[in-house]
Amino acid sequence: MAITTPHRPPAHPVYVIGGGPGGLAVAAALGARGVRAVVLEKSDAVGASWRAHYDRLRLHTTRRLSALPGLRMPRSFGRWVARADVVRYLEKYAEKHELEIVTGVEVFRIERDGAEWILHATGGRRLTGRAVVVATGYNHTPHVPDWPGRDAYEGELGHARTYRNPGPYEGKDVLVVGAGNTGAEIAADLAEGGAARVRLAIRTVPHIVRRTTAGWPAQRTGILVRRLPVALVDRMGDLMARVAVPDLSAHGLPRPTTGLATRQREGAVPVQDVGLIDAVRAGKVEVVAAVEAFDGGEVLLADGTRIAPDSVIAATGYRRALEPLLGHLDVLDGDGRPVVHGARCPREAPGLYFTGFTNPISGMFRELAIDAERIARRIARSSAK
Ligand SMILES: Cc1cc2nc3c(=O)[nH]c(=O)nc-3n(C[C@H](O)[C@H](O)[C@H](O)COP(=O)(O)OP(=O)(O)OC[C@H]3O[C@@H](n4cnc5c(N)ncnc54)[C@H](O)[C@@H]3O)c2cc1C
Repeated sequence: MAITTPHRPPAHPVYVIGGGPGGLAVAAALGARGVRAVVLEKSDAVGASWRAHYDRLRLHTTRRLSALPGLRMPRSFGRWVARADVVRYLEKYAEKHELEIVTGVEVFRIERDGAEWILHATGGRRLTGRAVVVATGYNHTPHVPDWPGRDAYEGELGHARTYRNPGPYEGKDVLVVGAGNTGAEIAADLAEGGAARVRLAIRTVPHIVRRTTAGWPAQRTGILVRRLPVALVDRMGDLMARVAVPDLSAHGLPRPTTGLATRQREGAVPVQDVGLIDAVRAGKVEVVAAVEAFDGGEVLLADGTRIAPDSVIAATGYRRALEPLLGHLDVLDGDGRPVVHGARCPREAPGLYFTGFTNPISGMFRELAIDAERIARRIARSSAK
């Protein structure tokens, strides 16, 4: 009698959308648990965001606390890892974990089909996954406010995403808009790199912290205080700022009136000083009021001033841009962010996971590493059932 084994089709893979550190970390953690994961990356290589960042960027989180599961960053990278080394690390990471990555494939829409997920992607692809991890990035689509007169502005206006180095701005009068980490660093870079005049337009005064104080990294403090009450952290932050950061009120940068943790809750991470304090004190970066509008070749500021810089660089943030992909699934909050992250799935969407959509003071690489393990553990457990 012939014995036949029942034919079981191979299980569909888990699709991970995005080949940045978040997606790679999840794929590696899944692989380590024997779960097949396929990473879909719309660009032609992993780490697309880090390839595109400005030249002088370094991680402001430490090398040790920024490593992803299963691969340390080499000591030779130093404590504050350079942008190019982050890219090298991500390439090595994919290689070491033998990740299955398909580049040049963008996922446009995700739909539920019974217990499975259908992904509509480049080239008319229709892919079926048993679970999907969305890792398309917190800083997905550059956002430039819809300032009145913006489109008719006669000067040069670009987003920080396209800024590489101060070279093209040598001898120019430049206005940087927005004092987050990116705006602050680009302003300092321009001032050090030969721009004739650099102004930084600020709407809300940022919290500025030293990257290290007596050798102790700000990130470690962020980790320690993360679970403490907001009011307590606000007070601690205020105290530390008074000790470590000079009063820059005379230069247009008074101390913020809302606490550091309160602001963090609203989505604003503190600015790590990598040159702004010195540049402001030396008058190399002038702080000006927020941008209100454009008028021909002029920029109108909130205090009524009109200025006429050669170039404006909008360091005004990014959007998650998740709506086309999964807005129809009712899994986003009013700000367009996923309602859950890590090992939890939205109630209506079992098998749909998100990583990289929070911005904690403890460091996002660290958070991505933690969430990767949690997501992989959960998926592996549900696959074993
Ligand atoms: C200037 C800057 C400096 C930062 N510095 C630090 C730091 O020092 N320490 C720290 O911990 N964090 C830092 N972060 C925050 C965060 O760690 C990084 O943004 C990190 O790259 C986030 O990883 P990710 O994988 O979530 O997103 P990304 O790195 O943005 O990767 C997302 C990937 O998804 C791809 N993709 C997007 N949409 C699709 C789609 N529909 N289909 C297929 N592929 C898609 C993109 O091409 C991209 O490769 C920084 C962020 C910025 C912007």
